[in-house]
Amino acid sequence: MSNKFIGAHVSAAGGVENAPIRAAEIGANAFALFTKNQRQWAAKPLTADSIRAFKSNCDKFGFGPEHILPHDSYLINLGAPEQEKLDKSRAAFVDEMERCQQLGLNLLNFHPGSHLRKMSEQECLSRIAESINLAHKAVPDVVAVIENTSGQGSNLGWRFEHLAEIISQVDDKERVGVCIDTCHTFTAGYDLRTCLECDKTFAEFDTIVGMDYLKAMHLNDSKVEFASRVDRHHSLGQGEIGWDCFKYIAQDSRFDSIPLILETIEPSIWADEIQALRHFEQQVLSEDN
Ligand SMILES: [Zn+2]
Ligand SMILES: [Zn+2]
Repeated sequence: MSNKFIGAHVSAAGGVENAPIRAAEIGANAFALFTKNQRQWAAKPLTADSIRAFKSNCDKFGFGPEHILPHDSYLINLGAPEQEKLDKSRAAFVDEMERCQQLGLNLLNFHPGSHLRKMSEQECLSRIAESINLAHKAVPDVVAVIENTSGQGSNLGWRFEHLAEIISQVDDKERVGVCIDTCHTFTAGYDLRTCLECDKTFAEFDTIVGMDYLKAMHLNDSKVEFASRVDRHHSLGQGEIGWDCFKYIAQDSRFDSIPLILETIEPSIWADEIQALRHFEQQVLSEDN
């Protein structure tokens, strides 16, 4: 028995319908994907054949929509200070949500946005919340899942307070949530190196944002040191965070039922990383019995 839904951000090369096949190959029961090229603004619409094949492959390998976490394009800045870029980003975000809906998915993971030092943090956070409100009006059902960041450059969302502020300004609280990336959390200055530090960090998250808003996690170790405000992922246990954090998550029921997604740097060992996490989970499940 397992209550954890673990996978990786797999390639959708050759069509989104290939993503569930690649996820199944590494022993995943959850996965993430881009539904279009993440470095381009425009994308061809999904074809009816591709949509049909995606749904049938998800069924075949047992992936439910609640365990599939699409990620939006890196170009989108929902807090952009310049109107033209903001409009372009908002339109692209709605398009991303529509693609999710066409695929029968209801989560969309995104990075909140950057003020580019042209506006205050507060203004930028309000702009991001307004972007989410507009997307909610345009597309029903899809939940906007805000990812915390490492706070590189002028990216917001690295403080839990930023996430809480955005959520407070979103009208439909049922359709907003958070994805906590362990690498980003750590390099933003929230320690995760020991069980005690994990307890503290998640207690702080619960107080400021609320565990109810946690809809997904990205499990990554970090190549760079604590509080460096730099985003460089590493394979689990090989970076500055170390295994204890990932064991903690695998053994804690607060992380049951949500997608736990690897964005680690060596796809060839994803299957092993998933196995290691399952092994940790089983240790605690067998102790309980
Ligand atoms: Zn991430
Ligand atoms: Zn990252």
